[in-house]
Amino acid sequence: MTGLEEARMRLAEIPLLQVTLNEPLSRHTRFGLGGEAAVFACTPDEAAFVAALREARGSGLPWGVIGMGTNLVVADEGFPGIVLRYDGARIEIHGGLVTAQAGAPLQALVDATIRAGLQGYEPMTGIPGNVGAAIYGNAGAYGASISDRIVRVRFFDGEQIRETDRAGCGFRYRESEFKRRRLRGEPWLSLSAEFAFPAGDGGEMRRKADEILAIRNRKYPPDMKCAGSIFKNLFFDRLPPGAREAVPPEVVKGGKVPAAWFLDRAGVRGMARGGIRVSEEHANTLYNAGGGTASEFRALVAELKRRVRERFGIELEEEVQYIGFGETLP
Ligand SMILES: Cc1cc2nc3c(=O)[nH]c(=O)nc-3n(C[C@H](O)[C@H](O)[C@H](O)COP(=O)(O)OP(=O)(O)OC[C@H]3O[C@@H](n4cnc5c(N)ncnc54)[C@H](O)[C@@H]3O)c2cc1C
Repeated sequence: MTGLEEARMRLAEIPLLQVTLNEPLSRHTRFGLGGEAAVFACTPDEAAFVAALREARGSGLPWGVIGMGTNLVVADEGFPGIVLRYDGARIEIHGGLVTAQAGAPLQALVDATIRAGLQGYEPMTGIPGNVGAAIYGNAGAYGASISDRIVRVRFFDGEQIRETDRAGCGFRYRESEFKRRRLRGEPWLSLSAEFAFPAGDGGEMRRKADEILAIRNRKYPPDMKCAGSIFKNLFFDRLPPGAREAVPPEVVKGGKVPAAWFLDRAGVRGMARGGIRVSEEHANTLYNAGGGTASEFRALVAELKRRVRERFGIELEEEVQYIGFGETLP
């Protein structure tokens, strides 16, 4: 029996875990491209998810966790190991304290807080994905980030279930301790989180959220096969002097320069590689116009990075996450 067959059999024995073989990850990612996961397993049950994580870790095979696949690019060759997803989606509200399981859609959390008259997350309306992934990448928009209201996170550290407070989450711009540890090969997988909110004006929050959603839907039509912004924005202070001088002051927002500003100067809008295109409206958005592949995506990303590097001497860094690529991008 191969290691994969053994792992699949052991996973299949975990109650409430749904296991499939050769699962096309294009079905689970908004980009709609990439190959299959050799083994895919998902569950709404926390104990089953943790048992699956233990199995995956003990199997010696490559393994990973996905959320709703809105920030992922999967290699055309797929992923030769185990991909897990946690679907626990309960949200509970007691006064200003809210608990959400990591598999809950972030939008469900945003909507629940607005309905309860709790202020803080309304600018994040329309960010796709689940709560666990939002914590991992400290998702945010229009001046708000998930880190703003977090009190504590319950997580599996690869050995046991633990809790950490907000300081322990080490949030930074589009970053957290969950992400840093994972990139070092130490899995910290969130299971649920607790949030605290002040009271706000429900009607005013709904109005603001609807306004933001309308803007977002114009920028990213709901059927667009994309991952939002491909590259992280850049801290003005960390730019090389030449690039700093080129940036007009009005472009700097909250100390950051949009990656799109540099991409625009590099003339990338409308560029394409096969089925992958740069949006005509927004230079930091790449989308699958139909039949696109992960290798086309990587080739286009490498070209965009090259153009910005040559023009400004800066290295753009992807916000999007890769699954199944052995090496890093040039
Ligand atoms: C149209 C569009 C607009 C977007 N706009 C924004 C925006 O305004 N702001 C913003 O910040 N992002 C934005 N994004 C990016 C994306 O929505 C976020 O990165 C989101 O948090 C990803 O959630 P997901 O569930 O789809 O995660 P996935 O893409 O499936 O996974 C992302 C990462 O999260 C990790 N992960 C998943 N679950 C857990 C868990 N339980 N514990 C630990 N790690 C976990 C995965 O391993 C992976 O590394 C946008 C994307 C799209 C498609």
